Amino acid sequence: MNTYARLPVCFERGSGAWLWDAEGRRYLDALGGVAVCALGHAHPDITAAIRDQAGQLVHTSNLYQVRHQQTLGDRLTRLSGMDRAFFCNSGAEANEAAIKIARRYASGRNIAQPKIIVMEGSFHGRTLATLSATGNMKIQQGFGPLVEGFTRVPYNDVPAVEALSGDKSVVAVFVEPVQGEGGINIPAADYLAALRKLCDRNGWLLMLDEIQSGTGRTGRWFAFQHAAILPDVLTCAKALGNGVPIGACLARGAAAELLQPGSHGSTFGGNPLATRAALAVLDVIERDELLVRAAALGERMLAGFRKNLGKTSGVKAVRGCGLLLGIELDRDCGELVKLALAEGVLINVTAGRVIRLLPPYILTDAEADRIVEIVSALVQRFLGDVH
Ligand code: PLP
Repeated sequence: MNTYARLPVCFERGSGAWLWDAEGRRYLDALGGVAVCALGHAHPDITAAIRDQAGQLVHTSNLYQVRHQQTLGDRLTRLSGMDRAFFCNSGAEANEAAIKIARRYASGRNIAQPKIIVMEGSFHGRTLATLSATGNMKIQQGFGPLVEGFTRVPYNDVPAVEALSGDKSVVAVFVEPVQGEGGINIPAADYLAALRKLCDRNGWLLMLDEIQSGTGRTGRWFAFQHAAILPDVLTCAKALGNGVPIGACLARGAAAELLQPGSHGSTFGGNPLATRAALAVLDVIERDELLVRAAALGERMLAGFRKNLGKTSGVKAVRGCGLLLGIELDRDCGELVKLALAEGVLINVTAGRVIRLLPPYILTDAEADRIVEIVSALVQRFLGDVH
């Protein structure tokens, strides 16, 4: 179906941060399949793990024990401070599991019409429940009636959440620690801690969508780890399989016990191939100390963009958290994607006017600098401000 406005390029192979098209032209990938290929393309360890597992066992069923799934669940819960994991195949499905956990939590408290607090500018996926939770009318348009039970407040606005404190139908707060699709919106440093307090005071679940910000992108395993809090529910996907589809909904305490046999499931979720790939991803991030590297690369690129564009009129902000980078302009700039492609760099524009970069953690300094130079020059040319 005509679901995507595709660019006129088809990549045939990749290596590290580079992709090659059918004509043999190469491109520097500053988008990583939208935050997925965090270890770059054709990473030898991931390739070897997939190849080896494909030769042993790709899929059995969640009717049986799945060894790599168990190991991955143990690893992820240890890394995140959660207690249990449910595996699925995408971000939207991980968020569906989170929403279902909140509904079960409500039903256990005899709340018949439960509400989850969600944010303006958020993105949680394209299934009916997750698009209903999403704070973007364009994504909801034409799909009504939406799933009920979401109440929306502005992002990074603690008083707006606090104002709902007396509402007995609220059961959870569902929020991205950094909004990705919404424009790389980074809240105040104490935002999550304030939400945690409100959730504790009201008996609400704090549910974090780390589909985009998780698995190391911000320089920690999960973005919430920059704050001294733990969520009750945590979702991740994207970079977890470096391109092999996998999502996870992690939970802690009472929230981890709400889904029971028969109440949720997935045919493919957590199969031996996907979980083996994800284990290899975690191994490489740990072995190569890529959390520290992602943080350092993010600082380097942010500093480069600020130096090049900080005084450029038309650039409203340069912001980032690790390798989740955004350059906000004062005008729509979607056409920059094509201009960058012509220069051999893959970028994205989100929320109309925010250039979004989600490069792999394995970039060399020279590759990072090259992205900064090419994108900065493009932005200056686009804004007609050639200093
Ligand atoms: N949540 C966030 C924060 C995302 O960035 C995305 C995808 O961009 C999703 C959910 C949906 O993930 P998927 O496309 O894997 O369903």
